[in-house]
Amino acid sequence: MTKAETLNKIGTLYIVATPIGNLEDISERALKTLAEVDLIAAEDTRHTGKLLSHFNIKAKTFALHDHNEKQKAQQILDWLNEGKDIALVSDAGTPLISDPGYAVVNLCRELGAQVTPVPGACAAIAAVSCSGLPTDKFQFLGFTPAKSQARQQFFTSAHESGITSIIYESTHRIMASLNDLSDALGAQQQVVFAKELTKTYETFFSGPVSELITFLTDEPERQRGELVLMLPGKGKETAAITPEAQKLISLLETEMPLKKACGVAAEYFGLKKNALYKAIIAQREE
Ligand code: SAM
Repeated sequence: MTKAETLNKIGTLYIVATPIGNLEDISERALKTLAEVDLIAAEDTRHTGKLLSHFNIKAKTFALHDHNEKQKAQQILDWLNEGKDIALVSDAGTPLISDPGYAVVNLCRELGAQVTPVPGACAAIAAVSCSGLPTDKFQFLGFTPAKSQARQQFFTSAHESGITSIIYESTHRIMASLNDLSDALGAQQQVVFAKELTKTYETFFSGPVSELITFLTDEPERQRGELVLMLPGKGKETAAITPEAQKLISLLETEMPLKKACGVAAEYFGLKKNALYKAIIAQREE
């Protein structure tokens, strides 16, 4: 590079996704980027330090978290203008997705700096891709509100949207949230719960919220860890119906009430009785 080119070079801000549990999920490009940039902005430098040392990467890190990112944004822009390349990482998954970085990226875009993604793991996408819920349209709603009444409204409007909702929840609030969901939408409301994705105790549960509450209460250990909650949109509970179950229900319905037909079909195909019944009702109401 000539001296003039060096002077004109503007740096790039790389938004680098890191694993949400399984370290093998880091991409080759993420490793290369982290090894080559001049600086790494990390949500928690100690946490990222462990990741870097696992991959034998020596790099300069500095802290960028919710409390300092507005002040740091201008400093980062100055470094980019000096020609430094910078990577931005969070503790896990894709930065800015319920994680810091918005103020920095927003300022960089506003002032024309180069921002480019190095994509990878994201708990929301990992969860919904395995949920069995419709994925043609979905919404990511981040964390639930802190207060019970606001949470009930949150679940009601998520459901009313008619599309799949993906919600992050913390261990200490999951039971309160599920009780609010049940109060707002009924104990038979179908939900999908995904826990500890890509880790040893990865768990998926799908069924009525009342059964999820029982599942988590029976062994409180199950409430611990990192959690994603998913809710089908109103009228989209049809995910629980398989074509075979639908056919059997139609045959049985000529001889018995719909609810009983759903019960028999659910038992025969190993499906959740209430979810199947609710899904059939929702399908017919559409
Ligand atoms: N930026 C991250 C991403 O791309 O998914 C999300 C960070 S947010 C602060 C942390 C929340 O993400 C957790 O409370 C949980 O809801 C979800 N999460 C992160 N890792 C997860 C995992 N391995 N399994 C399930 N949920 C996870």
